[in-house]
Amino acid sequence: MWREETVEELSDGRFYTANDMVKVGTDDCRGCADCCRMGPVIVLDPLDVFELNRFLGQSFEELLNETIELKVIDGLILPALKLLQKESQEEGMVCPYLGEDGRCTIHDFRPGICRLYPLGRSWENGEFRYILQVNECTHCNGTKIKVKKWLGIPNLAAYEAFCRDWHELLASARRLLEGTDPESKLRNQICIYLLRQFYLCDWNVDDFYGVFAQRRAEAMRYLGFSS
Ligand code: SF4
Ligand code: SF4
Repeated sequence: MWREETVEELSDGRFYTANDMVKVGTDDCRGCADCCRMGPVIVLDPLDVFELNRFLGQSFEELLNETIELKVIDGLILPALKLLQKESQEEGMVCPYLGEDGRCTIHDFRPGICRLYPLGRSWENGEFRYILQVNECTHCNGTKIKVKKWLGIPNLAAYEAFCRDWHELLASARRLLEGTDPESKLRNQICIYLLRQFYLCDWNVDDFYGVFAQRRAEAMRYLGFSS
């Protein structure tokens, strides 16, 4: 998710690396699912879709029929979790993966944005640092936790490299399309290409990061970007 606010407005003003301690404890989100109801837009990256394919056994097309939708995010068409209207109006719109018990039914392979939350990423010159979004979590109790423990992602170095490469590819595509008509043929072509190359493709692979790197290199060449 890309935000308009400045880091000062969003965060405690500090930047964190994976090895830093951050006051992010939420007591295991016990009794709270606020960010799964009307929370941030959960934009899915290729790793998120790979994980959903792998653990749910559903293809991207099947997910599109049920739990995800395509949205325009800063001028590019990307998949996001599709919020569903619950029968009870008070419950409002909720994530399709939120269980009746108020817990995430895909916790072990939940999307990267959900893993981060209420941490976020602040980007500068193609690099990012973690930030603590102070106005997001309603139950943050301020317990200090190491960022990498909070994320709980195996092979974090490879994951962070993937995040940088994916972000840089999308940023390059956005720069290329800057000033073009939202309905332009070029924008349409690039959006469809990115969806085919990174989402509609077969992610039934063992080495996600290796295959992603190959597909990204192909995309960089196709779009005329230097790597
Ligand atoms: S708002 Fe905070 S405590 Fe509640 S579910 Fe989200 S991260 Fe957990
Ligand atoms: S995927 Fe899980 S953690 Fe993420 S919004 Fe949905 S229910 Fe919440």
